[in-house]
Amino acid sequence: MALTPRSIMHPEDAAALDKLESLPLFTPLVKSFIKMFDERFLNRVTSLHYIRLGPGQLPEIHEVLVDVCQRLHLNVPQLYLEVHHEPFSYTLEASNRYIIVSSSLLDKLSLEQIRVVFAHECGHIFFNHVLYRTMTKMLIRYGGELPKPMSTLSVPLRIALLYWYLRSELSADRVAAVITGDIRPVADTLFLTAETPADIVASLNLQKIVEQTASLASDQDSTIQRLMESLILSDNEHPFTTSRIEALLNWEKSPDWPNLLDNPSPECQHCHHPLHYDDSQCRHCGEINPEAIGINHSLNE
Ligand SMILES: [Zn+2]
Ligand SMILES: [Zn+2]
Repeated sequence: MALTPRSIMHPEDAAALDKLESLPLFTPLVKSFIKMFDERFLNRVTSLHYIRLGPGQLPEIHEVLVDVCQRLHLNVPQLYLEVHHEPFSYTLEASNRYIIVSSSLLDKLSLEQIRVVFAHECGHIFFNHVLYRTMTKMLIRYGGELPKPMSTLSVPLRIALLYWYLRSELSADRVAAVITGDIRPVADTLFLTAETPADIVASLNLQKIVEQTASLASDQDSTIQRLMESLILSDNEHPFTTSRIEALLNWEKSPDWPNLLDNPSPECQHCHHPLHYDDSQCRHCGEINPEAIGINHSLNE
């Protein structure tokens, strides 16, 4: 199977996204979020409190990101280091996309494991998750302080948003597994990010862990809602780790595991110019990129 967003997106992610986008209040919510989201705030944060990485700043780390983006046919997002004692990473979207990694994360992980992190974060870009994920995080964190309709989300919309957010991790993990060619480094990275000591991680038997795990229940009651909210706020979704590994191990055994070599660059159907998966339009002729998943053009109207 080819490595394209459509062919490897996790079916539970795709189904949850369909459900979310079918809710009548969802599109107005996204539109108001885009209008409100203060890009100057984001620019200030990313310039004063974060260290931008690049060819002149920790080049070996930045190089890993560039390589991952080349393999996935993505534009290279801006990369920032946040000095923080907890290990985490996340991706935000305003007019640019930003990947933010914490100093503790870089300290704990080998270059191969950092590659897993970047492949996972770029996976979110590959599937065009980032705008909705940024919105979800902001709504949970600042919900009550935001103007309507963001402060008054209906319960079904809130649940659908949280549920999709967690399901989107499954698709991003798939990208990490394909880029590293193996589930083990992905699993190790998830455990290390959840602050499991390295010597324990090295001796864990993944199969045994998975056997004892039941997948996260999808019951839509308030306990689950609170659990989902706390998972998302924690940035690294600790308790969810084993079901994510289980999903990868099942996928690896299936005929759907893609071939990294079957990974042609997408091209414009009009002028045949090469495209990136995260381009909504051809930069050469302006034709809409049919390979860009889920980019909702009605949002720009
Ligand atoms: Zn993620
Ligand atoms: Zn074109």
